[in-house]
Amino acid sequence: MFNLTYEFKLKPTKNQVAVFEDWLEQNRRVYNYALAERKDWFKSRSCQINACSLRSEYIIPADTPRPTYNQQAIQLTAYRKTSQNLQRVHSQVLQQTLKRLEKAFVSMWEQEHGFPRFKKLGRMRSFVFPQLGKDPIQGTAVKLPMIGLVRFNQSRPIPEGATIKQARVVKRASGWYVMLTLEWDLDVPQPMPHGEAIGIDVGISHFAAVSNGKLFPNPRPFKHLERKLKLLQHRVTRKKLGSNNRKKAQAKVSRLHERIANIRKNYHSRLAHHLCDEAGMIFAESLNLKALAKGMLGKHCLDAGWGQFLQILEQCCFKRGVFFRKTDANKTSQTCPNCLTETGKKLLSERVHKCHHCGYTTDRDVAAAQVVCIRGLAAVGYTVKMLSEGKFTGIPVTEESPLL
Ligand SMILES: [Zn+2]
Repeated sequence: MFNLTYEFKLKPTKNQVAVFEDWLEQNRRVYNYALAERKDWFKSRSCQINACSLRSEYIIPADTPRPTYNQQAIQLTAYRKTSQNLQRVHSQVLQQTLKRLEKAFVSMWEQEHGFPRFKKLGRMRSFVFPQLGKDPIQGTAVKLPMIGLVRFNQSRPIPEGATIKQARVVKRASGWYVMLTLEWDLDVPQPMPHGEAIGIDVGISHFAAVSNGKLFPNPRPFKHLERKLKLLQHRVTRKKLGSNNRKKAQAKVSRLHERIANIRKNYHSRLAHHLCDEAGMIFAESLNLKALAKGMLGKHCLDAGWGQFLQILEQCCFKRGVFFRKTDANKTSQTCPNCLTETGKKLLSERVHKCHHCGYTTDRDVAAAQVVCIRGLAAVGYTVKMLSEGKFTGIPVTEESPLL
C-alpha cells in the first residue's frame, strides 16, 4: 500500500464557500468542546489532595475514565441528533476532527509537543472526508459527500490504478484547496534496490548532506521575506482591533506566510528530484523528532521542515522508481564511515570528521550521511564498498566481493 497526496485548487461557488465556512466553524466548536472535556479531566487529576482549591472544585468523579476518541465519538453521535447545526455537517467529517484532537494528544505524549490549545474563531482551516463515494472525480469537479460537485482546477492528471482514499478541504489565504490522498494496492511493484546508493543526513549547519560529498545549504535565503513578515505583523498590531484595516493587514500576513511555505515546499521537491537523478537507492535517517525538538535546536528543526522534506523525498522516489528506505539514526555522527570505529561524540562546532583510527577525513555531515548509506545498504542485504570520492556501490552479499 502506498499513498500520495495531490493538491488542487478548488473553484467553489459563493454558496459552497458559505457551506465550507459553516463546516469549519462547526468543526471548530466540536474540537473545542472535546478539548475542554479532556482538559477538565486532566485538571481534576492534577489537583493535589492536600491543597484542594477553595474557589473551584472539579466535580468529576474519581473513577471517570480519561476521555478517549471512541467515547467522544459516541457522545457526538448522540448530540448530533439534537443539534441542527451539527446535522448540516457530515458525521464522518466531525469524527475526523475528534481524531485530530486525539492525534494532538498522542504527539504531546510521544513527541513532547505542547498541550493542545483551543482554536480561536477562524483558526480552524481544514476538514477531512475520510472516504468519498464511487468515482468522485467527474469531469472538472470533485464530488464531496453532502456538499456535492465542486469544480476544481485539475493541474495534473490522477494517475491510473490509484483510488482516492480521502479528501481534505483546506482554506488558505489564496483560496480553497482540496488535498486528495491517492492509494495504490499492494500489488503495485515497489522499486527494488539498484544502481548507486546515496545516504542523506539532515542537520543544522546544512539542510542536507549527501554521502557523495554534496552539501545543500539551508533554504533560508528568505531572510528578506522574514523581515517583511515581521514588518507586516507589526502593522497588524497597530491597527484598531476588529477594524477592516486590521483584517486587510492580517490578510497580507497570511498571504506572505503561504508564499514562504510554498517556496520551502518547492525547494524540498526540487532537491528530492535532484537526488533521484543521481541514485537508484536512497537512504535517510529516520528522524528522531522527540530528541530534536528538545533544547535550543527545536525551533530551527521545525523551521527547516525536515519531516516534510523526507515525506516529499519518499513520494518522489516512489514516482521515479528509486528505492527508498529509512535507517537507524543512532550515533551516525559518532562512527567512522571508512573503518566503522566509534569515534565518540563530537561538539556541534567540530565541522570535520577526522578518524583517529584510520585517518579518514571528510566533512562531519557527509561522514554521517555515509554511515547512513552503509547502514541502509546493510539493511537491504548488501555489503558495502566505498570508492575513493566517497561514492558507494552496493555489492549483493551473494556475489563474491574481493574488496572486503
Ligand atoms: Zn576510521
